[in-house]
Amino acid sequence: MTRMPLIAGNWKMFKTVSEAVETAGTLARNLTGRDMEVQVMIAPPFTALSPVSRVLKDTPVALGAQNLFWEKEGAFTGEISGPMLVSAGCRFVIVGHSERRQYFGETDETVNKKLKSALEVALIPVLCIGETESQREAGETFSVLDKQLSDGLKGIKLKDPESWVVAYEPVWAIGTGKTATSAQAQEVHAFIRNWVTKAMGENVGGALRILYGGSVKPDNISELMAMPDVDGALVGGASLDPDIFLEIIRYSRQT
Ligand code: PEP
Repeated sequence: MTRMPLIAGNWKMFKTVSEAVETAGTLARNLTGRDMEVQVMIAPPFTALSPVSRVLKDTPVALGAQNLFWEKEGAFTGEISGPMLVSAGCRFVIVGHSERRQYFGETDETVNKKLKSALEVALIPVLCIGETESQREAGETFSVLDKQLSDGLKGIKLKDPESWVVAYEPVWAIGTGKTATSAQAQEVHAFIRNWVTKAMGENVGGALRILYGGSVKPDNISELMAMPDVDGALVGGASLDPDIFLEIIRYSRQT
């Protein structure tokens, strides 16, 4: 089954509006008119979404947000809803990033509500799951992932594999410079695909894109992408510099 790879950049809490516009412009200029064999998405902070969406108009770079709230509108000071993200030009939204689970109290239950609200407005959620270092050392990787998938996806039966994306992000590899080996990534990606296939059928499991995230750099992307179940990457730190991100995009096709 062929799956269009996705290279996604999570800018976290970096870049002012003008910095974001400049970086997005550099990416758009370099990627427009190319024969794209990968899909590219960037997720700037909320403040930059609208201006960046204008820069990305008619370019092959898609826009994503880093989070959303599950209600459509209401007295929820400081929150941003799915319809608001759509109106700002987003096609994707990252859901359940480990930094949100770690610092902002997100749980599989809130992730579940966020997934449902994203799907309701046809935003493509990038569901992030992954184990901590101590969980891996205790041999709990697969049971942790199983729980994150079953609780996160509770009541959600997807038919269209293109309507969502999963990102395997081992917490111990995020922003630490430690990357999972390609064999470790493949083992987990195969587990996730198998889990989804059992829960939602071969059509969905076989065509679902599963990204790897955790200290992805130009020098490790090719090896990761060579794995049969790695369909792209969610890149944090290395997506902030457009030249480095462009190298990752370029090397992602040289497997
Ligand atoms: C991330 O933020 O999703 C991530 C994987 O970060 P980094 O690439 O910096 O490890």
